[in-house]
Amino acid sequence: MTAPVVIVGTGLAGYNLAREFRKHDSETPLLLITADDGRSYSKPMLSTGFAKNKDADGLSMAEPGVMAEQLKAEVRTHTRISGIDPGHKRLWIGEEQVTYRDLILAWGAQTVQVPVAGDAPEAIFPINDLEDYARFRAAAAGKRRVLILGAGLIGCEFANDMSLGGFQVELVAPCEQVMPTLLHPAAAGAVQAGLEGLGVRFHLGPVLNRLQRVGEGLEAHLSDGTVIACDLVVSAVGLRPRIDLAAAAGLQVNRGVVVDRQLRTSHANIYALGDCAEVDGLNLLYVMPLMSCARALAQTLAGTPTAVAYGPMPVTVKTPACPLVVSPPPHGREGTWQVEGQGTDLKVLCHDADGNLLGYALTGSAVMEKLALNRQLPALMA
Ligand SMILES: Cc1cc2nc3c(=O)[nH]c(=O)nc-3n(C[C@H](O)[C@H](O)[C@H](O)COP(=O)(O)OP(=O)(O)OC[C@H]3O[C@@H](n4cnc5c(N)ncnc54)[C@H](O)[C@@H]3O)c2cc1C
Repeated sequence: MTAPVVIVGTGLAGYNLAREFRKHDSETPLLLITADDGRSYSKPMLSTGFAKNKDADGLSMAEPGVMAEQLKAEVRTHTRISGIDPGHKRLWIGEEQVTYRDLILAWGAQTVQVPVAGDAPEAIFPINDLEDYARFRAAAAGKRRVLILGAGLIGCEFANDMSLGGFQVELVAPCEQVMPTLLHPAAAGAVQAGLEGLGVRFHLGPVLNRLQRVGEGLEAHLSDGTVIACDLVVSAVGLRPRIDLAAAAGLQVNRGVVVDRQLRTSHANIYALGDCAEVDGLNLLYVMPLMSCARALAQTLAGTPTAVAYGPMPVTVKTPACPLVVSPPPHGREGTWQVEGQGTDLKVLCHDADGNLLGYALTGSAVMEKLALNRQLPALMA
């Protein structure tokens, strides 16, 4: 029997790759293996569930059985792979071995955990998949006060969503502005002002040192001495690409699993895409890049080696309190920033010395200009 193409992970990367592959090849056996329950869902929707009043079941788009049928594939759920043996083209699930024709790592990134003292670590919820979200929704039922750790894109989106869902939101992060790695300070100020307008209270600078149970609620002790009363905590302090199993198998890893433009790892017949992959030096934890990778890799797996190209990849951040679209300058390109506009309606542009647009952040009503500006942006990976 022909060994199957094996995809590890049924997130957007795994399922979209399988879908694209089936457009070119309807016969080769396809096996998807996932540590979670295998439901198909759109992860970006996790930070819109309270405003839309959707729980985890409401955000789920298809059960794994339906996906298996659609993809003419086998989908193994609640199955964690524990090792890879590239020399023999097989992987391990505990003691069980599975051989592959080609192996694709689409196993995502894991949440960063920060050490917090106190007696309530179980009240801290990372939310990086549908199962995390289900646990969080169950814990949040009947609660009203939430503390969010992290002022990145995901922390800000949850702050907006939970405010709209009726929660009193406080946010703590050890930085001077929101989304420090993504945004010019002016745009960050606009987003923060928009969220403050919803009632979000920011504590930028300190970290959470200790979380203590007090009666029915919690007391969060920050490093600057502030004490915040809350009912539960969302941890959105960052994501780290999963690389350990790849490194143990001798694959080249850096921030992510290192792959070339054809999504090939340092071993023949093993590929990677999505949050876990570092593609030609870029580890982008967004949907647009993984969709481009899925299309290119599907062709390669079907017999036509195809390199991926990234065009401009602006990110729409789901903070309706202050709409935001951002396209940071390509890595290593320096430019001069210029801020136009008033209040929370800002057009923040970055140009190189020749006047070419390198990147932008648009907030408030200025997001209307994104289509025109996108046409001027450089490709991230031509
Ligand atoms: C709240 C939130 C909002 C977001 N909003 C946006 C947005 O608006 N726009 C945007 O572009 N991006 C957004 N993102 C990022 C985007 O959702 C991710 O980049 C994308 O979903 C990653 O998909 P993935 O398939 O690579 O990883 P994942 O979805 O994490 O999938 C990983 C899969 O691998 C499986 N797995 C892991 N380890 C193993 C193992 N050892 N064995 C078997 N299976 C394993 C998991 O069970 C899972 O099925 C958001 C992310 C979050 C968390």
